[in-house]
Amino acid sequence: MTDARAVREPTFRESVDLMFNRAVALTDLSPGLEEKIRVCNATYVVRFGVRLRGGIQTFTGYRSVHSEHMEPVKGGIRYSPLVNQDEVEALAALMTYKCALVEAPFGGSKGGLCIDPREYEEDELERITRRFTYELAKRDLIHPSQNVPAPDMGTGAREMAWIADQYARMNTTDINANACVTGKPPHAGGIAGRVEATGRGVQYALREFFRHPEDVAKAGLSGKLDGKRVIVQGLGNVGYHAAKFLSDEDGARVTGIIERDGALVSDTGIDVDKVYNWIQRHGGVYGYPDATYVEEGGPVLEHECDILIPAALEGVINLTNAERIRAPLIIEAANGPITAGADEILRQRGTIIIPDLYANAGGVTVSYFEWVKNLSHIRFGRMQRRQEEARHELIVRELERLSADHNIGWELSPDFKEKYLRGADELELVRSGLDDTMRTAYQSMREVWHARDDVVDLRTAGFLVAIGRVAASYRAKGL
Ligand code: GLU
Repeated sequence: MTDARAVREPTFRESVDLMFNRAVALTDLSPGLEEKIRVCNATYVVRFGVRLRGGIQTFTGYRSVHSEHMEPVKGGIRYSPLVNQDEVEALAALMTYKCALVEAPFGGSKGGLCIDPREYEEDELERITRRFTYELAKRDLIHPSQNVPAPDMGTGAREMAWIADQYARMNTTDINANACVTGKPPHAGGIAGRVEATGRGVQYALREFFRHPEDVAKAGLSGKLDGKRVIVQGLGNVGYHAAKFLSDEDGARVTGIIERDGALVSDTGIDVDKVYNWIQRHGGVYGYPDATYVEEGGPVLEHECDILIPAALEGVINLTNAERIRAPLIIEAANGPITAGADEILRQRGTIIIPDLYANAGGVTVSYFEWVKNLSHIRFGRMQRRQEEARHELIVRELERLSADHNIGWELSPDFKEKYLRGADELELVRSGLDDTMRTAYQSMREVWHARDDVVDLRTAGFLVAIGRVAASYRAKGL
């Protein structure tokens, strides 16, 4: 074996650029336009102090804007001690291509704060988040029509609610203030289904892949998702929802879960919800009773399975382990889990990779629905549903009255009632919109993959579709 560790791997941003270059070489874009699309427009670095625990602590934050061919620009804010400029720029670039591929009308952006959120109390995190928001918002790096953040690693609905509230305080007359950030809690301007959206999108992406037997055969697989062995890395928001939906709804068997403190393996399948609850209570997978614990989690990526879902950090499949990855199909639920070098090795070995710019686009897709809902000031689906809902309410009341009057002991199921009376219509609309988006985007990638002999992988196909759209947008603006 070559000592891959001795080989310098490109940084995350370089890795994304290499993948971009591979695709753009197959286009006839002028070198000038090519470069304009590739480069990151600007990155703002801010250092700010917050009074904490009797002293002042200084934090470093970033907001990078990769491409403004469409505005607002869009992308999450990550809280992690490892955040750095290179990473944020790579993630911002991926947002540009991701949004273009799923036709979410945004440019690409990303933010990060160097912090380990587990080391802070909730009220401290709130103060830090509000201060960071202030720093970004006063430069229009949070703004409903300029730059709209969302959750990412280490942040969630709670942080988004603080951001929205802070922005609203700074812009009391802005009727669209709520649209300054997405991923808010449902009762604070959010939308149903946003929390599950990225994991749901991974499920829809796999379902769409398995609708094409020709593509499935390219991975050396056959049949449907039912019974497929899945290994997932990271049981955070994305990995948890993806693994849960695939096992609960599609009959996939989760044979491995890799977490920070080790991994769990079981040939007969692991109950995702049980493990998730175990992690919430114990802080890790260690000690979970119904699967075998492996202390060193990383090598479990190399175990035999049908589908590998890296849903945690970037760069986990790299020159040191790519040759040993046995999964014939990898779906990149995380951003950038496969380095450019590893991508090359896997491609040559015939591994099929469903790339991040498509696979994890469910989050930003539903963010788009939320943003539209905030700007329209109408409950999602309300216009079409209003009369219907009123009628449904009457029907439910009438059914309940009849049941009580005639003492027939018959009750409406809570699920039925809920569907009729509340929120469910929004969730249904969100899910069907997401499904539709994931199907269409896959087909646009697939078309290029199958039509062109010089396009041998889905990632290059995805980049080609995205680059084409970004280029068209720049051309339309006269650039
Ligand atoms: N952070 C997510 C991503 O990487 C979501 C971005 C968004 O919703 O704007 O795609």
